[in-house]
Amino acid sequence: MHEVDMTKCLLLSLQEWKQQHQPEVPLVEVVHLQVGDFTCVEPDSLVFTWGALVSGSWLAGSELRIERTPLRARCLPCGASYAPQQEQAYRSPCCDHPMEEILSGRELRIRSIEYSLPDLQNSPPATQAGSARPTLARDRDPVAGSRL
Ligand SMILES: [Zn+2]
Repeated sequence: MHEVDMTKCLLLSLQEWKQQHQPEVPLVEVVHLQVGDFTCVEPDSLVFTWGALVSGSWLAGSELRIERTPLRARCLPCGASYAPQQEQAYRSPCCDHPMEEILSGRELRIRSIEYSLPDLQNSPPATQAGSARPTLARDRDPVAGSRL
């Protein structure tokens, strides 16, 4: 997939996530993205595209941080897990079996988002004593199910 299309896809996921916070607009600092080594994604290129596409948007100034996941596969004849190598055509070193079952390395998902929620100008005063709302709400909030 082209990095620009992928970034747009990522931005759509974040747009949906943002709507859960309405009317507040979360101030996003870091988006942690998990990218498998077997996804043909060029991380540097993705980070560059991110910077270009979020500039001027509600995500301006946020950072895309990429976490790589190594390619791991399971050898079907013997059940051993191994790290497939391109030079060996991804065959298992133990039984020389073609790669059939991938355990990890194809991930492409948002792992977490570091953000804060700004105080609303016209938010009603807290009615209960001592229930001041923290302004820095959540850190590294996991975003469930936001696969690209
Ligand atoms: Zn084997």
